Amino acid sequence: MALDPVIGPLSERSLDPTAVRWMKHVPRLPAPLRRVRPAPIWPRSVPFSTPASLRTVPGIWRDRQVEEEAFAARPLHDFMLVHSENLPLALRHSWHFLLPAAPEMAKALARKPRLAGIRGARPACPRSDVSARELTDRIRVQARRLGISAVGFAPYDPKYTFAEYADHHDRGSVIVCAYEQDWQATQTAPSARSERAAFRAYAALTTRSVALAEFVERQGFRAQPHSFTGEAVAIHYGVQAGLGQLGLNGQLLTPAAGSRARLSLITTDAELIHDEPVDYGIHAICDACQACVRRCPVGAIPKARAQHRGVRKIKIKTERCFPVVVSAEGCAVCMKVCPVQRYGLEAVVDHYARTGGEILGKGSEELEGYVWPLDGRRYGPGEKPDAAERRKVLNPPHWRAVDPTRTEPVRRGEATGGDAPPSQAIDSVLL
Ligand code: SF4
Ligand code: SF4
Repeated sequence: MALDPVIGPLSERSLDPTAVRWMKHVPRLPAPLRRVRPAPIWPRSVPFSTPASLRTVPGIWRDRQVEEEAFAARPLHDFMLVHSENLPLALRHSWHFLLPAAPEMAKALARKPRLAGIRGARPACPRSDVSARELTDRIRVQARRLGISAVGFAPYDPKYTFAEYADHHDRGSVIVCAYEQDWQATQTAPSARSERAAFRAYAALTTRSVALAEFVERQGFRAQPHSFTGEAVAIHYGVQAGLGQLGLNGQLLTPAAGSRARLSLITTDAELIHDEPVDYGIHAICDACQACVRRCPVGAIPKARAQHRGVRKIKIKTERCFPVVVSAEGCAVCMKVCPVQRYGLEAVVDHYARTGGEILGKGSEELEGYVWPLDGRRYGPGEKPDAAERRKVLNPPHWRAVDPTRTEPVRRGEATGGDAPPSQAIDSVLL
């Protein structure tokens, strides 16, 4: 970006909350000028039944006892805090994605403190005297009205809250909100256009999830919309609420849009009817596909699942992925080349069943080709940036190597200059 030398260093200053508080006063452009299309609303159930040959388990493989032991021994921490030394550099590289969405995000975040929150008094409105079923249905209908692509409901699980936020949430239910990111822009990944679409989706989702939390409060219950950078493992809740299954690319694959869906959580003390994990056949589709494993430019995705904290899944090699995400326009090659993202799960399952096990688009230029933003070259199936280019992208200037064994923050407030968890610090940047 031509303006990087000027705005890049300024964006590092944005960690100072006073620097960009004015952002919430910036008027939003009218939607046509922002080229924003409302996200589609997804049907409540998939229009196909999972073939027997694709079935594995509903949700994901879990060993409950090992999960509990892992949590007791080593609670999860906010990734941004654990690896905070690279946060200023990440912001410096991403200001041009963040800026277009920042006014909308800032306006939404400015509404959050008006909610009662966990430490606040009871919401001003009296509690609705309705059944848990009726309340759940009301929230679902309101989410649709607000333009959220889908919502699901899951029980709160303290194991999946980052330790920094352990006392910030009610422990009743989690409302999981999904918002579909623009299809066309995503097919250009890795690109600035694709990342702008991602942050616009986050801004639109934050606006809507804050509005949904306000709705829950008007029913007389507390509701805490989480920060957009995450206070808990959103993918865990997406799986538990039946919104999708974990793909080999480490993302929640939803039937309608694969991982082209941004997630946001709301915790509440309301008693709600929880959804169940579903077997959409995604584990078997992934085993036959492996496009993200083959196409990741730096080999950050292992081929086989392993048990991690009681859950059998792929663990992305953070030390490889994180520098690439920072320096190559957010990367997201693993999202771009995913057939479920591009064609939708129904088409992928239908093709699999008709062809006796083929994956739609596998090996094609359309699905697996991408333009590498750092050299401007297009790499088709089987091609990747060369070793010199890979070395460069794994070690961008001023990068401090990520230690994959580090699971706890080294020094609290290292990157934020204060004691607030980084996600809250980022919120406060925009407030
Ligand atoms: S974002 Fe890029 S580097 Fe990271 S896992 Fe996906 S393809 Fe690999
Ligand atoms: S690209 Fe293929 S293997 Fe990777 S997440 Fe998508 S379906 Fe699964």
